[in-house]
Amino acid sequence: MNKLPSYKRVMLKVSGEALMGSRDYGLESATVRRIAEDVRGAVELGAEVCLVIGGGNIFRGIAGAAAGMDRAQADYMGMLATVMNALAMQSALEKQGLPTRVLSAIPMQSLCEPYIRRRAIRHMEKGRVVIFAAGTGNPFFTTDTAAALRAAEMECDALFKGTQVDGVYSADPRKNPKAERYVTLTYLDMLARDLLVMDAAAISLCRENKLPIIVFNIHEPGAFTAVMQGEGKFTTVVEQH
Ligand code: UDP
Repeated sequence: MNKLPSYKRVMLKVSGEALMGSRDYGLESATVRRIAEDVRGAVELGAEVCLVIGGGNIFRGIAGAAAGMDRAQADYMGMLATVMNALAMQSALEKQGLPTRVLSAIPMQSLCEPYIRRRAIRHMEKGRVVIFAAGTGNPFFTTDTAAALRAAEMECDALFKGTQVDGVYSADPRKNPKAERYVTLTYLDMLARDLLVMDAAAISLCRENKLPIIVFNIHEPGAFTAVMQGEGKFTTVVEQH
């Protein structure tokens, strides 16, 4: 039985880098498969699951801009990178037996469906896993903001942000052994302390829409389903402690 108020519909945000596994670029198929298995676990719990996947394992607009490209142009390349990741994840999810749809903010009819909010909701109601590709479709945004935006549009109960560590810490726990993990935080704590878990636009959007953010370790097998049931380690970000 779920210990938390059961999550009927959830958004999972996975960074592009999480798909690299032990590589330093691109996709590691074993890692993509493992995350797909975790998504299957969440679906088996009875939740409707949608995903936003980043593109940082392939291309980030800011890196293109630093190399002299026009920032907006580079951001469009970044959004295309998220489509590649979305297609890879779709394939892995389908291998797990999960019906999956990719909906892109930038229409690409030959590859996937265009993003249409009502259609996305319908897919989820029918038990399909929905992957939102191409971020928000706009340059100068991030896929964290896309995850917050789509989660609000889908009326998700929570945004699960899969990261490299099992929650939000007072300092980088991989560098500082005294770093402490927060059990709960407020949106304002996150913004005021500039905790670099999500960008400010994404946090503000979650705050305005009363969407809890749950930060957990995406690299720990089974963590997604455990955290959905209130087990294991994670940090919950809400309006008040
Ligand atoms: N991007 C964008 N608009 C969006 C989402 C993403 O322009 O709404 C671009 C941006 O260049 C970004 C890249 O896509 O650097 C990849 O997304 P992100 O950096 O958020 O990926 P992650 O860090 O999650 O892997």
